Amino acid sequence: MLRQVAEGVLIHQSEFFQTNTVVVRGRAGVLLIDPGVRGDEMACLANDLSDSGQTVVAGFSTHPHWDHLLWHDSLGEAPRYGTARCAATVRDRLSDAGAKARITGLIPPDLVKQVPLDLLGLITCLPAGTALIPWDGPEVRIIEHQAHAPGHAALLIEERGVLIAGDTLSDVLIPLLDLNDSADPVENYLAALRLIEGAADDVDVVVPGHGSVGGADQIRARIEQDRAYLHALRDARVVSDPRIGPSAAYDSLRAVHERQLQNVTRRREREGTPG
Ligand SMILES: [Zn+2]
Repeated sequence: MLRQVAEGVLIHQSEFFQTNTVVVRGRAGVLLIDPGVRGDEMACLANDLSDSGQTVVAGFSTHPHWDHLLWHDSLGEAPRYGTARCAATVRDRLSDAGAKARITGLIPPDLVKQVPLDLLGLITCLPAGTALIPWDGPEVRIIEHQAHAPGHAALLIEERGVLIAGDTLSDVLIPLLDLNDSADPVENYLAALRLIEGAADDVDVVVPGHGSVGGADQIRARIEQDRAYLHALRDARVVSDPRIGPSAAYDSLRAVHERQLQNVTRRREREGTPG
């Protein structure tokens, strides 16, 4: 079911890690951001759209992770955009014969049959530095950064006061670092938060890739919460963060946190070794 969060901006939430799909109404149809996870959910979304006389005229994936790269037949054949770096990463990771099997291994076993992979990652590359998503609707500004995944885009719909944060600023997920592609994943994440903070002055609604939609007061609070987590991780201080505390929404994040802590600690020790 679609829920309006601002004028002409609606969301559809998956049961899988509260993944948010965003629908933006344009003049000739809708822009669909991070289309969803389960096939039946995407089909339901396509139904809701056609019931209200809307077609999808453009898609966008905020970053090159499988749960943001899916698509369903019933959504049609609109171009699905991503930043140049996102598209290049998708190409690198999905072009070999073993790619689908690797992705299948990343999906929880109880979910895997419900996730359609045939149209995974068919991303149309936007030229590097593209500022706006090319489509006929409210301006959607691309704020590209390197937190969480290469070529990650936060999206700002200024005239509607909406920030679509991708996999940052979640109330349920701690910052998940890009430990594979980045020389300094913590600093990259902090830099991304500074960029987002600089753009978020007039934002009334923040939609994270996973978790609940927040109001104006939540934007600063979530930036500060992500930053506090990263500072504690960087400085090897005790992390006190409700997202990995006793009332956390997802228990599995504690193990993720431990892995991140070990990785960041190892990097620091390596740097501290002379020669
Ligand atoms: Zn992700």
